[in-house]
Amino acid sequence: MDLDNLYQELIVDHGTQPRNFAELDSHSHDAEGFNPLCGDLVHVYVKLDGDKIADVSFTGKGCAISTASASIMTDLVKGKTLTEVRALFKQFQDLLTKDNQSEVELGKLSALAGVKKYPSRVKCATLAWHTLQDACKE
Ligand code: ZN
Repeated sequence: MDLDNLYQELIVDHGTQPRNFAELDSHSHDAEGFNPLCGDLVHVYVKLDGDKIADVSFTGKGCAISTASASIMTDLVKGKTLTEVRALFKQFQDLLTKDNQSEVELGKLSALAGVKKYPSRVKCATLAWHTLQDACKE
């Protein structure tokens, strides 16, 4: 997959029409993340129910990869516990940085596997996840 195809796939789907792209009215937690390498800005809003993510959304301004990754993340983590989210993030990081990783449980996040060939863009793809974890810290 070259960068054009990668961009195309992401832009067509989540990059141009991000899901859950709004400030959450009744969020219990939120955090801002910034990726100085690219200029990506993301603000993640979370409504926690115990240790479960009852609802999640984001706003911000960034490249197609950061926007698409944040959009897919919000779809994926809704209804999951923080433990499950940590495990997913670990898998996603492995997918972006290690060879021969299983993409099975990552669903649409697997579309971002091509980022692995562009190490400088890994921070774009993981920004929303880091920010989500920041938001959920006590
Ligand atoms: Zn970026």
